[in-house]
Amino acid sequence: MRKLLGICCVLAVLLLTGCCTKHEWKEATCTEPKHCVKCGEIEGEPLGHDFQKATCTTGIHCRRCGMGMLDGQALGHTWTPRTLDKPKTCSVCGETEGEPISCTKYDLPVLSKEVDSMRFTPESIICGKNGEDRIYIYDYDEKLINTIDIATDESCAWSQCVIRWGLTETETAIVTTCIDSSNDCKICMYNARGEKTGEAHTTVVLPEGEENIKPYNLCASRYVSFYPSSYDGNASVNPLILVDVQENCLADPNMEFDFETFVNRNISSCQDAPIIANQYAFIRARDGRYGYLNKRYSYTEALYQDATNFNSAGYALVSNDGKSYDLIDLDLNVVGTACVEGDKAHWEGDTVFVVRKDGVYTYYSFK
Ligand SMILES: [Zn+2]
Ligand SMILES: [Zn+2]
Ligand SMILES: [Zn+2]
Repeated sequence: MRKLLGICCVLAVLLLTGCCTKHEWKEATCTEPKHCVKCGEIEGEPLGHDFQKATCTTGIHCRRCGMGMLDGQALGHTWTPRTLDKPKTCSVCGETEGEPISCTKYDLPVLSKEVDSMRFTPESIICGKNGEDRIYIYDYDEKLINTIDIATDESCAWSQCVIRWGLTETETAIVTTCIDSSNDCKICMYNARGEKTGEAHTTVVLPEGEENIKPYNLCASRYVSFYPSSYDGNASVNPLILVDVQENCLADPNMEFDFETFVNRNISSCQDAPIIANQYAFIRARDGRYGYLNKRYSYTEALYQDATNFNSAGYALVSNDGKSYDLIDLDLNVVGTACVEGDKAHWEGDTVFVVRKDGVYTYYSFK
């Protein structure tokens, strides 16, 4: 009994002093000091958090335990636009996304000599030869892939063809009309490879004194309209024929346009301006030939000695010395410096810029 009492006393003393025979230490953490898990004895201080500043992809957080601050949200990348040399790049961390702008150069030595007019689509070159009622369609290797006769039959009294340029949201690239002496009008629609995509018939009576019709790209992404040849561009005159190239059919010439469509129609008749995501975007050369206008910028005044308007990928060529051209994007960032040499540049179709140097034309596509 005495012995037992003695052991109890020793235990009591041990408990009171907090000592154990062998401590079991747990290392200090951000919030707890080093301590013994058995007896709770403490050594030193808590380490405190080791905070890392917010980065593009992580918010403020402790490097050691991962604890985040309340406002510890990631900053997000600070993107600079892609250029001819570099993909879209984060100016803070260097992360990249996508590919650099691709630039393709086309010399087209044969076509440049043999045809009088060229319109470029992403997959073909639509060509006209002087005095011929026929359209030739080539691929970019200058191989003939199709022809289309504008006057499709003998009875055609007068005919007209329109090649749509501007952004092709639809397949239809070419519309031909053929009107015979009994006022029957046949309208044919073709895709960019020259394959027929639709045909429609209507009756067209020309106003007295008119001898022919005249096509307009109306709302470049959707409608093509045909007016009497004396049409002066007054939008209040309804067209004789209105073709809906999105649906490959005739549209009602008396249809009412909503305001946005109406505005687009008027702007599109100024220049062969493309519609980019329903925004008009074109820039203005010092001589006032082009205006730059879209919903974000409303209007920006003359900027360059020479400028093309924007292509469907949202790029334009601009020159300040008439010798070399920079490439700019829709936000007017220069994304390619002195990338093309020439004394005159314009846009031909929705994909290709044409640059003239010493009288020789070279074609470039920037995507
Ligand atoms: Zn202990
Ligand atoms: Zn921590
Ligand atoms: Zn970043």
